[in-house]
Amino acid sequence: MVTETERILQQKQPLLAEAEAAMRQEPVSMPEPEPEVEGWVACEACNQWRKVTVAYQERVEQEDIEFVCNMLPGLDCSMVSEFGVAE
Ligand SMILES: [Zn+2]
Repeated sequence: MVTETERILQQKQPLLAEAEAAMRQEPVSMPEPEPEVEGWVACEACNQWRKVTVAYQERVEQEDIEFVCNMLPGLDCSMVSEFGVAE
C-alpha cells in the first residue's frame, strides 16, 4: 500500500530531475558576439584574402587602391593566408 506522501514524491521526482537537467543545460556564458570591425581585401599580386579593418576595406574599394600584401605590416605575398585565395 502506497501512502499519499509516497505517491506525491514519486510524481514529483521526475519533474525535479527534469528541472535539474534543464538548469545544467543553461549556457555558462554567452558566446562572444562577432566583431563587426572585420573587412577583407584580396591582394592584387597573389590573390590571397587578407583580414583588415572594415575602414581599410572601404578605403581600398572607394579609392580603388591596388592592395598588395606588403601594404600591411608584417605581411607579404609569400605568407599563406589561412582564409584562402580569391577567385
Ligand atoms: Zn599578396
